[in-house]
Amino acid sequence: MTITPNKILKLEQYINDAQKIVLICHASPDADTIGSALAFCNILKQYGKEAVVVSPNVVPDFINFMAGVDEVIVDDNQGKIAKKSIKYADLLFAMDFNAPHRTSNLEQVMKESRAIKVLIDHHLFPDEEYFDLLFSEPGKSSTSELLFDILNVSIFKKYINTDIATNIFVGLMTDTGSFAYSCDKPETFETAAALIRHGVKAKETHDLVYNNNSVARLQILGDSIANRLRIFPEYHAAYFALNSDDITKYGNAEGLTEGIVNYALSIKGICFAALLTEKDDKIKMSFRSKGTYSVNEFARNHFQGGGHHNAAGGKSFLSLEETTKKLDKLLAKINIEC
Ligand code: 5GP
Ligand code: MN
Repeated sequence: MTITPNKILKLEQYINDAQKIVLICHASPDADTIGSALAFCNILKQYGKEAVVVSPNVVPDFINFMAGVDEVIVDDNQGKIAKKSIKYADLLFAMDFNAPHRTSNLEQVMKESRAIKVLIDHHLFPDEEYFDLLFSEPGKSSTSELLFDILNVSIFKKYINTDIATNIFVGLMTDTGSFAYSCDKPETFETAAALIRHGVKAKETHDLVYNNNSVARLQILGDSIANRLRIFPEYHAAYFALNSDDITKYGNAEGLTEGIVNYALSIKGICFAALLTEKDDKIKMSFRSKGTYSVNEFARNHFQGGGHHNAAGGKSFLSLEETTKKLDKLLAKINIEC
């Protein structure tokens, strides 16, 4: 349990002592990093602080309804402002990531910053050296759930409103795949219930996130399943490999390929799934598993990545074809059990 009274006191003290506060999201931001950052930012503003959310890349379309989303400073579009905010901040929060390198082009300015650094995250192996205070709970469904726990035992509890609760709910809902995984514990559902008591409209919010697809997203999903899925029943593995043309054909919007990997994992008898996407100078990789096989270790050991036991990411600087060859060889070796 990382939420101790002492840590909460320290957190409150850091916030009381700071004026400029920046909440930083991870690269290729998802609803958990954006939702938790926006929720906390709203609280800090009500508390009288100059707080902003900075994201390395644009916020995906499917969460553009979130309260405060228009104020997110995106490094890809407003690099100078993003970096300046971090440089002159008194206090930085890392929301939903475990080390500065997860923020791509913001890594350097984060490392050079003399601000106090606080981590609020549920990924394995946080960079303990870098942070002054860590709320790291890999057992939590989401950073959003962890933030809600922190708020509830702090002086900030009274500022929770429906907008804040909704942003937290979206992070929790999406990181559990709509309460399908990472939600074995009753606390996750108790958090959902408490958020609904704060005024969250669960069905409407679900519709906004899941029944709000662009046609391009459905088309790339269909195309990927029909033409880009490789299945290895003997290894209990399946993966998609998408080249840059596959992606540009459908517009290459942020979040375009989000969720595709889960379709490989949904196949009967498959317990390891991956999505490889060719992007600029590298191959971005998403890994998922069911059960005991750790894709966190797999990503760490072979593809410069990490994440959670059953959901992780990584990258490769080989060509797409060479990356698939490397992956095929590994699949033959690693012995995935279902
Ligand atoms: P996704 O496949 O959705 O991009 O990522 C799956 C999970 O792994 C997310 O929680 C994401 O934050 C995390 N993740 C993705 N890439 C990396 C990485 O390179 N390093 C670490 N530590 N975590 C990652
Ligand atoms: Mn998360």
